[in-house]
Amino acid sequence: MIICDTHCDTTNMRVFHKDETPCVTMENLVNGGISLQTCALFAGSKGMADHPYERAIAQLEELNRLGWPRINSPLEAEEGKVKILLSVEGGEIFEGRVDRVDEFYGYGVRMAGVTWNNENEMGHPAKHGSKEGIKPQGWALLRRMAELKIAVDTSHLNEAGFWDLIDNHSQPVMASHSCAKALRPHFRNLTDEQIRAVVRRGGWIGVNFYPWFLGDTGKAVAEDIVTHIDYMCQLGAEKHVGFGSDFDGIEVWPDDCDSPAKVHLILDGLRRRGYSEEALADIAGRNFLDYYRRLGW
Ligand SMILES: [Zn+2]
Repeated sequence: MIICDTHCDTTNMRVFHKDETPCVTMENLVNGGISLQTCALFAGSKGMADHPYERAIAQLEELNRLGWPRINSPLEAEEGKVKILLSVEGGEIFEGRVDRVDEFYGYGVRMAGVTWNNENEMGHPAKHGSKEGIKPQGWALLRRMAELKIAVDTSHLNEAGFWDLIDNHSQPVMASHSCAKALRPHFRNLTDEQIRAVVRRGGWIGVNFYPWFLGDTGKAVAEDIVTHIDYMCQLGAEKHVGFGSDFDGIEVWPDDCDSPAKVHLILDGLRRRGYSEEALADIAGRNFLDYYRRLGW
């Protein structure tokens, strides 16, 4: 079975939080049977003060130094081998420049989040509740992303920007690390209408493992991740949902599911709820690869 995970912040932790211990290690990826781990190049939490471009390059250099095997197309994922796909978290890394989209495409970036929690040249974050959609400069970059078949990631983006993309972007959108708002009202989670729209447009959602997005106590277990996946499937997302752990970007994690080595607990939970082996293979990885096929890969 091909297992994909569409978000971790390991490179940012390794470069900028050296006192912390990453749980996304090659050993844990191998033990978890992960075939495709998406590693985000994170723009930083302080907007331009964090020098997003330089910060992204430093994370890229760390990955090069680690020597983890990277792929240029998600469809190169193989069972039994760990491969790394690159993403961008926070469009400020591009600094409003279309040529930067090409530059990061050249590095292997195949997924880019419009915003993190700060406003940038492309759009507005969910965190600040702006009613503004995608900015004109954002569309210039998004058009180039679509030409290069780079997926647009709406996790962290405000609702107006999300709907702007649903209505006006030429490609189906994804949310790499978000949960269901009906189960846990949080600005980072997706409403039922958003989940249905992602399905309708042929997009994809990676359910986040962060206890504060799964419930309101700050504590969680793998079964809570199962509940969010199951909920999205009930809304029609059984071919459009998977895993977006957010490992190494979260300061707490589910008690029993504390590293990539434990994702089998989620599959076990889905199995107990009556999901077939075919459905498990879809959720574990096939849905994500099929999404990229719809982007033209
Ligand atoms: Zn994030």
